[in-house]
Amino acid sequence: MIITITMNPSVDITYLTNTFKLGQLNRTKTPTINIGGKGINAGRAAALSGSDVTLTGFIGGKIGDLTQILLEEEKLFNIQMNQVSGETRHAVTIMHDEGKHTEVVEEGPKLDDTNIQELLEKVLHISKEKPVNAICICGSANSTDAFLFPKMIQYLKDNLEVEIPILVDISGEKLTCLLKDNSVTPDFIKPNEHELGDFVGKTITTKKEALEALHLSCFDGIKFVIASLGEQGAVCRINDVYYDVRIPKIEIKSTTGSGDATVGGFAYALEQNFDTKQMLKYAMACGMSNAQHEESGKICREDVLAFTQFIEVTAI
Ligand code: ATP
Repeated sequence: MIITITMNPSVDITYLTNTFKLGQLNRTKTPTINIGGKGINAGRAAALSGSDVTLTGFIGGKIGDLTQILLEEEKLFNIQMNQVSGETRHAVTIMHDEGKHTEVVEEGPKLDDTNIQELLEKVLHISKEKPVNAICICGSANSTDAFLFPKMIQYLKDNLEVEIPILVDISGEKLTCLLKDNSVTPDFIKPNEHELGDFVGKTITTKKEALEALHLSCFDGIKFVIASLGEQGAVCRINDVYYDVRIPKIEIKSTTGSGDATVGGFAYALEQNFDTKQMLKYAMACGMSNAQHEESGKICREDVLAFTQFIEVTAI
């Protein structure tokens, strides 16, 4: 089984309009509504790959109830979300003027120490009931504790009865705090080029620049580091061997959630005991397949398997 932790799920509402006029009434047809949040998206990709997935994390209020109902309707996962006070957030995207998009994203419920402790206890409890092959901790958290993620990882490592790989996909200050905290290391991280650039303090646009960053000592000890670069594929540091992953050009619909699908695909590949090259191919192919769907985390397994044939992984 794979457990994903979604710290801050969202009800994602997307409006399509021809033009969007600031300060005026804009009319639109019925929006598309999806449940988002990085752990949920990653869980979707893993479940559609064939994994038994349990979603954990936080939901709150009436929007939390809606989140639960819509997730249940997907019939893809076991849902074990914790209730918190406050309302689960909305994330509104307006697609307008041929290719532009404008987003309004709420903060989501504030998390305190008790919320985090209850969540970790639940994860430990689930892991006692069935063998768990990966735990994915994903996404932003509305918490003022900059060291929240190192603490969560440490707690899980100290208290899990067996060793379970912990995959982490976070960004910004919380990623920086995790990488600078030498006392605890996740087993996997997947920064994209912007997140990696923010961390090293310079713009990263090429694989050469990303590869240079992966040599930094803060990545020592992390078994799997994937620096994803959208349509360029990725460069990776796996057990201190560096890899270039080249992907073919494909037609895309929306790349939102491609990184999350990559994480979910990697968790599935870990569970299947794929070798390194197969793992990287499968994870990248999930990102690609996600890019061919409007919904975040959605993949088509047949397409994923077909894409893996055209992905090249070379040790550098
Ligand atoms: P998100 O934050 O939206 O989940 P991300 O920025 O973390 O995504 P990306 O680097 O954009 O992650 O994408 C992850 C993977 O998905 C890429 O390494 C690649 O395999 C695939 N992918 C993303 N964009 C494209 C694209 N335009 N064409 C083909 N594959 C893509």
